Amino acid sequence: MLEKATTQALKWIEENKFLLIEASDKVWEFSELGFLEFQSMKLLSSMLEKEGFQVERGVAGLPTAFVASWGSGKPVIGVMGEYDALLGVSQKKTPVKEPLNINGVGHGCGHNIHGVSGLGGSLAVKTVMGKAGIKGTVRFYGCPAEESGSGKVWMVRAGVFNGVDAVLSHHPGAMNYGGLASSLANNSVKFHFYGKTSHAAASPEQGRSALDAVELMNIGVNYLREHVVQDARMHYVIESGGGQPNVVPDYARSWYLIRAPERDQVDNIYVRILKIAEGASLMTETKMRVEFLKAVYNKLPSRALSEMITANMRTIGAPEYTEEELVFAAKLAESITPEAKRETLRKSKRPEWESLQSVLMDRSFPDAWDEGEVSHGSTDVSDVSWIAPTMEFSTATWPLGTPGHSWMNTACSGTPLGHKSLIFASKVIAATALDLFTKPEYLNAAWSEHKNRTRGKTYSSPLPPEAKPPLDMWEKKN
Ligand SMILES: [Zn+2]
Repeated sequence: MLEKATTQALKWIEENKFLLIEASDKVWEFSELGFLEFQSMKLLSSMLEKEGFQVERGVAGLPTAFVASWGSGKPVIGVMGEYDALLGVSQKKTPVKEPLNINGVGHGCGHNIHGVSGLGGSLAVKTVMGKAGIKGTVRFYGCPAEESGSGKVWMVRAGVFNGVDAVLSHHPGAMNYGGLASSLANNSVKFHFYGKTSHAAASPEQGRSALDAVELMNIGVNYLREHVVQDARMHYVIESGGGQPNVVPDYARSWYLIRAPERDQVDNIYVRILKIAEGASLMTETKMRVEFLKAVYNKLPSRALSEMITANMRTIGAPEYTEEELVFAAKLAESITPEAKRETLRKSKRPEWESLQSVLMDRSFPDAWDEGEVSHGSTDVSDVSWIAPTMEFSTATWPLGTPGHSWMNTACSGTPLGHKSLIFASKVIAATALDLFTKPEYLNAAWSEHKNRTRGKTYSSPLPPEAKPPLDMWEKKN
């Protein structure tokens, strides 16, 4: 049974769904890369401002971040929205691969929906809070550059999340699920080496190769792999390796991502990688400069919030799909081989995953099964999860088995499958936020779990104090 305020909030979302769908489709069309989401930020922040939210733009030194607040006092319930797109996944609203933009940017992670589902939930909550006299503050966080700049980590460092009592976030996915898996902590760092040019054949003795330094550093790290914790990941690319072979390169650059299940494990590995970089510089008589781009923590799950989310999903009920939508989903799913789908399901470790091979759009609501598991990706939601109980849940937006960051996700995020996921998720956020506002026992349970999970540990920003947000990361550098 839904409470009266919740029923009214869901009704508000139903009555205003075309407004939310229109906003999500506009963000889909803008398709802006991280830290360049000016149009998306403007659209979402203006919608909240128009409805009486107090908006602060450009928080934490990030021009495309904002915080929109409504109400006053405790509790403060945070809702996060992302709106950055990805390179390489541009796609038309069709179920077969057809890029839309020549620059290749598209919403292959569905962040156009991410930004608007939280906004819809926040607006609905605000509408009924006023009418029902519910006390507290709803705070919407406009979070830029999740994919490439970890916007939230800079926002946490600037104190933007201070005083928040719980944080809700929705991510499009293939399931309706409040997962409990952790994620990997990471550091993203560039190493610049500076040497001396010379004729590579006529006077090699005068040259000092920056490319040698990059290669020797990589060799050192590849030997290090055997002597780090099992789940650590170290990957690199050579971004700049010289101009032509008959000139000894005086400049070369590599870009590293270093990941591990716990923050202090990344810190330890990073110190060792710095020694290897210094060693490579010493061996080659080159100079070395470290450019620290960003870092994140591992994610703390919240069973209390997961259970609330799952219960609300079940009460609200999954979207019904039309014949046309199912035909679209089936056509799109033809691009996923049965073997790939099977592997995705197996990897999820979902109970009885074998029975899901024939499911197209998953309308079920499984209980969280993955506590103690580590998903092998990283997210800036993790840093927020150390400040207050946080839950990022998913709703079915694309067929089961669809890979992340793909053209298929772009297609679904801009079409009715995505629209239905958006409206459903807005309702789940509204219902869960209202539970948190009106039933203190829920917040208390979430906090006692959070205190247990953080016992003996303190969060300190993984960013070096001198680090600045990489706002210019899309500019070509030498
Ligand atoms: Zn994402």
